[in-house]
Amino acid sequence: MTIAILAVQGAFYEHGEILRKLGIEHFEIRQQSDLNKHFDGLIIPGGESTVQGKLIRELNLYDTLKEKILQNLPVFGTCAGLLLLAKQISNDEKTHLGTMNITAVRNAYGRQLGSFSTDGNFKGIGTVPMTFIRAPYIEQVGENVEILAEYNGKITAARENNQLVTAFHPELNDNLSIHRYFADIVENNA
Ligand code: GLN
Repeated sequence: MTIAILAVQGAFYEHGEILRKLGIEHFEIRQQSDLNKHFDGLIIPGGESTVQGKLIRELNLYDTLKEKILQNLPVFGTCAGLLLLAKQISNDEKTHLGTMNITAVRNAYGRQLGSFSTDGNFKGIGTVPMTFIRAPYIEQVGENVEILAEYNGKITAARENNQLVTAFHPELNDNLSIHRYFADIVENNA
């Protein structure tokens, strides 16, 4: 199994470190030619969704990535990655890949509570550390979307078939369980 990590901006390095600990082969997607390599799953990291959205268009990655996801390529979006996958962002007129049937709210916790860590329950895994950095949450989900975690009544993780998103950053903690959960999705898709 090989997992590609979108590496145009944001916390891509940390995802690679987690995959390394799990012994999963991976490489970074920085330019169009990287898309010629074979990969079975894709991680879209946290960072700044507007910047990543702009760069994937400018670097001509947009069409291929969108097509692959629509053809069921397993994808895991964290934080800004969640925003890239959301079909709608209620406080931003721009959407990006827009492949997942969720409506997200950007920078949803306000300035004061912009960044915080907590422990929370993740469906099918149990208690995991959750680090939020100017995070979004999910306001609304479509009918095929499974809710996997909530914090203060707001949805913070969800799955629609092969698309997995978390509003928090599992790559910033030592806990490997959410990446392992994604690797299982990739494995079962093979
Ligand atoms: N606030 C960022 C955005 O709107 C997301 C923050 C993050 O990825 N940590 O894209």
